[in-house]
Amino acid sequence: MDCKEFEKRIPDFIGDRLEHRDLKKFIRHAESCEECREELTIQILVMEGMARLEDGAAFDLSKEVEMRMETANRSIAVYNTLKCIEITMKVFTMAGLAAIVWLLLF
Ligand SMILES: [Zn+2]
Repeated sequence: MDCKEFEKRIPDFIGDRLEHRDLKKFIRHAESCEECREELTIQILVMEGMARLEDGAAFDLSKEVEMRMETANRSIAVYNTLKCIEITMKVFTMAGLAAIVWLLLF
């Protein structure tokens, strides 16, 4: 999915009208493209935020976007978890290397 297609599908995403296959592509693009994520955030703000602001309810935009992304595609959430684990592993490896260096030096 390219940026143009993404933009065209934002209203469908917000209205929950995307098919699973398109939804996956949509989320993937949002994950990899900061510009489109920003565009999506703005559109969600416009289409949903305003209604809530009128209600007088507290509205946390970043949370709203986060929630939508998560409910939209659980596999992305799993992917993120795996990535987190990968980063944690890397940190541990780095800490291990640092400890070895420290032992060698002192
Ligand atoms: Zn894009």
